[in-house]
Amino acid sequence: MADKKGIPMRLPETETATEVYSLPFPELPKDLGALKGMKPIVVKQPYHIDYIHSYGQDSPWIAGLSNGTILGSRCKRCRNTYPQPRGHCMDCGDETEWVVLPNKAKVHTFTVCHFGSQEFLPECPFVLCLIEFKGCETLLLSRLMGVDPLKPSLKWVGMEVEAKFRRLSKTKPTDVYFVPVGS
Ligand SMILES: [Zn+2]
Repeated sequence: MADKKGIPMRLPETETATEVYSLPFPELPKDLGALKGMKPIVVKQPYHIDYIHSYGQDSPWIAGLSNGTILGSRCKRCRNTYPQPRGHCMDCGDETEWVVLPNKAKVHTFTVCHFGSQEFLPECPFVLCLIEFKGCETLLLSRLMGVDPLKPSLKWVGMEVEAKFRRLSKTKPTDVYFVPVGS
C-alpha cells in the first residue's frame, strides 16, 4: 500500500515468519510490573555468511597438511624451529624457511574439552593436546584421537604419537590430528 505520492506506507508481508518457542506476555493493562520478570524470548533464525579468508604466507603450511606433511618454520639465523607457520623468528625476528617435520612426535600435555565453539560442539567431549616435536622450540595444538576422553590418563603425557591427516582435506589446521603410535 502506498500514499498519494507512491511512498510505501506498510512493510511488505512475507510468507515466512520467525519460529518462536516461547512468547509469554502478561495480561494487560494491570500486570505490566510482571514484564520485569519476563522470561527471554527464544527464536530460531538462520544465520549464514560466506567468509573469504586468505591464509597469506601461511598457505604452504596448510597445503602441506592437505598433502600429508607437517611443515615447520626454521629461523635462518638462530635455527629456532616452530611447528607453526611463522614468517619470522619470535626470538630474533629474522626470516624463517620451511622445513619438513617428522610425522611422529610426543604428547606434551592435553586437556579434555566438554564444551567448544559451534563447529566443535558435536564432537564434545574431545581431547586437545600440545604436540612436542624433536628439535622444535614451541608446541603444536592439535587433536588427540584413539583415546577415551571420558577416561583421561596422565600416561598420555609423553606418549609417542603419529600424525594422521583427513583424507578429504578441509584446508584447515584441523586437517591434522594425532593418534598413539601403532593404533
Ligand atoms: Zn631467530
